[in-house]
Amino acid sequence: MPRPEALPQKPMATELLFRTDAYLSTATAEVTAADEHGVVLDRTIFYPTGGGQPGDTGALIRADGTRVAVVDTRKGATPDAVLHVLGPDSPRLDVGEAVTLEIDWQRRHRLMRLHTALHVMSCVVIAPVTGGQIAPDKGRLDFDIDLALLDAAHIEREVNAITARGIETETVWITDEELDARPELVKTMSVQPPRGAGRVRLLKIPGVDLQPCGGTHVRNLAEIGPIRVIRIRNEGKRNKRVEIAFAD
Ligand SMILES: [Zn+2]
Repeated sequence: MPRPEALPQKPMATELLFRTDAYLSTATAEVTAADEHGVVLDRTIFYPTGGGQPGDTGALIRADGTRVAVVDTRKGATPDAVLHVLGPDSPRLDVGEAVTLEIDWQRRHRLMRLHTALHVMSCVVIAPVTGGQIAPDKGRLDFDIDLALLDAAHIEREVNAITARGIETETVWITDEELDARPELVKTMSVQPPRGAGRVRLLKIPGVDLQPCGGTHVRNLAEIGPIRVIRIRNEGKRNKRVEIAFAD
């Protein structure tokens, strides 16, 4: 008779609500851990820094109405734990305490618009992506390409023409095995999609792009609005950097 195996200890995971709905700007949750580094919740709408997208900021609101500022969000000690970094002199929250979550929605929506614009740009510039970064006011991708092939006016025009079509984006999940069978899906050489969870999340822009990405995106490309290329520069042999910002 095989002996029953002990159940693996459950890590303190945070349910990532932004994965299924990037438009949640408020939610309720329970504190599962709290120390001088920050607060872990049983579920969250705060995106932790990763994949070139910065962590969300906002507030946790206690039952008595006290607002506790969240100045940054990072990945926690275990793969699915999210650490909400509090401002200096914040009160210590209690484990088991219920809080209301609020993210700085204006900032996050700008990040979502620029992030999705970078997906579009990765389809306008046909070259391997070697890096990327997003801030609330600008975003950039690095390409392994001849600098002479990067034309700011062309990139701007093509990206804006695609976003103006108002295409609805979709989230698609595939298994690790399906991804292994389609390596062409992974455009970003420097960021391999997270594996081991059995399935990988893809952003699909029908007719434009399909690639693994764990970030937050707009529902419709029209939300991005016009962008402009603010700079193209050489950042190394395999890194030709194209930086974009909102045109208005
Ligand atoms: Zn993405």
